[in-house]
Amino acid sequence: MKYYSLNHNAPKVSFQEAVIQGLASDKGLYFPEIITPLNASFFDTIENLSNEEIAFEAIKQFVGDEIPETVLKEIIAETLCFDFPVVEVEKGIYSLELFHGPTMAFKDVGARFMSRCLAYFNKDKAESKNTVLVATSGDTGGAVASGFLGVDGVDVVILYPSGKVSDIQEKQLTTLGQNIKALEVDGVFDDCQDMVKKAFLDESLAHKNLTSANSINIARWLPQMFYFFFAYKTLKSQNKPLVFSCPSGNFGNICAGIMAKKLGLPIEHFVASTNVNDTVPRFLENGKYDPKPSKATISNAMDVGNPSNFIRIQEMYQNDLKAFKKDFSSYSYTDEETLEAMKQIYKANGYIAEPHGAVGYLGLKKELQKHNNAIGIFLETAHPIKFLDVVEPALGITLPIPTQIKSVINEEKVSVKISSYEELKDFLG
Ligand SMILES: *Cc1c(COP(=O)(O)O)cnc(C)c1O
Repeated sequence: MKYYSLNHNAPKVSFQEAVIQGLASDKGLYFPEIITPLNASFFDTIENLSNEEIAFEAIKQFVGDEIPETVLKEIIAETLCFDFPVVEVEKGIYSLELFHGPTMAFKDVGARFMSRCLAYFNKDKAESKNTVLVATSGDTGGAVASGFLGVDGVDVVILYPSGKVSDIQEKQLTTLGQNIKALEVDGVFDDCQDMVKKAFLDESLAHKNLTSANSINIARWLPQMFYFFFAYKTLKSQNKPLVFSCPSGNFGNICAGIMAKKLGLPIEHFVASTNVNDTVPRFLENGKYDPKPSKATISNAMDVGNPSNFIRIQEMYQNDLKAFKKDFSSYSYTDEETLEAMKQIYKANGYIAEPHGAVGYLGLKKELQKHNNAIGIFLETAHPIKFLDVVEPALGITLPIPTQIKSVINEEKVSVKISSYEELKDFLG
């Protein structure tokens, strides 16, 4: 499989090159040259397949012959080492729980898959290690740290803003050791992000083989389509149209859902639910793509002013706004509305939604008014414990600490404090 740059000013590359480079040389995102729908028989018999078998069928064309089938199957098995329950929250509305992985956020799947692909590509290169450099506002860093822990040939350097991530998130970043290093930046998330961007452009760091691990990387982005197949498998017997609502920030998750639809998965409609960072909802209203600086909210993993994957979505619809709007809606919600929804869901159904899932729920409820006979699914992208500072006071409850979190919370934090790009460079060496 070849991948082209969406800026159309860089050579086409293989899957391996796209994974190692992350971004094309013209700064465009990579996109697969050909997308071949899966056979109807696959969907007819999907309920007889395991999650691993489904994932293998969905992803294999994107990897091609660059990873042997047996190895790809092992990578998938290690990636999907936990459950993806579909929980009925109220009549006709389901929560697709993506938070049962090692760091209790949906990014575990993409991070685990990407790390193992990189390890495979590096297996014969004793000398040239890759360094994954990533800036995090909280959730990404933990998933990347855990996903890459102990993976041969890959060093991971995570930059996070000092004092701006939750205690649990900080422990997830700073306690693992081995090939994972945490840099505590004196600044805000944007400062971390700026340093990372600068490092990628810095010729003097070329020997470090820097790569990114956010959803611009195809190996982190594409495996996210698995979730939609798993939910379909569970709900198929009800024989109703499916509407999915994704709490969206960089739009990687929902973009992977649209890819699943391109492969033939029968999805009636997508909702991209956002917080007040509403660049996409505004675009759907007035046709103007006008990104704004991000605003801080209680659903902070979605505080993105210029969603990087939106360009991939536009590519899939060939910039045909009419066709796009038929399949896709996007609605934005304030923190007050989000808190109100969390309370209402808990009161009416006893279900604990964290702020991102609650935003997804709100967008879903709105869209379902237009789809009489449909079933709605919102993606619950993090465990409530990861946002306990919001969830506990809002619902007046105390959450038990899950084992995944207990295992890091008492470990000692190890980080290196930096306050300038020069210090980052010295650290990388
Ligand atoms: C990253 C993240 C999102 C947003 O996902 P995108 O793919 O960037 O749209 C939503 N919820 C949580 C908890 C996240 O960590």
